[in-house]
Amino acid sequence: MQIPVAEGVFTWPDAEPRLIGSRCASCGIVTFPAQASCPRCAAAEMVEHLLARRGRLWAWTTQAFSPPSPPYAGPTGDAFVPFGVGYVDLGDVKVETRLTVADPDALHTGMEMELVVTPVRTDDDGNEVVSFAFRPVA
Ligand SMILES: [Zn+2]
Repeated sequence: MQIPVAEGVFTWPDAEPRLIGSRCASCGIVTFPAQASCPRCAAAEMVEHLLARRGRLWAWTTQAFSPPSPPYAGPTGDAFVPFGVGYVDLGDVKVETRLTVADPDALHTGMEMELVVTPVRTDDDGNEVVSFAFRPVA
């Protein structure tokens, strides 16, 4: 069984998953992750807003060593696999995300990226824990 790493982050199960953000009913700013109140105008009415599945790579780097856990929930020690991290500009918001690619030669600012849901680990009950990432559009 596949279970999401956290509830309310992306639509799942879904053949075309979307990230779940929020939009301020007052000023229109979009946030991800979803927030209960607006970071810009402090209005308390935020509505669910599904984000675009594709965007442009805005900034990125590669994670060559195991980050602090939590929030990191993937393999550590000898099992650690380097991965890319970055921001993808989805038009109305920039999303901080893991990238499926860790090779600097395969990444460049402005390239088109799309959302994927990928396994990050197996939990103690044998469930495959999945999280979101962005990959280059072929
Ligand atoms: Zn607002």
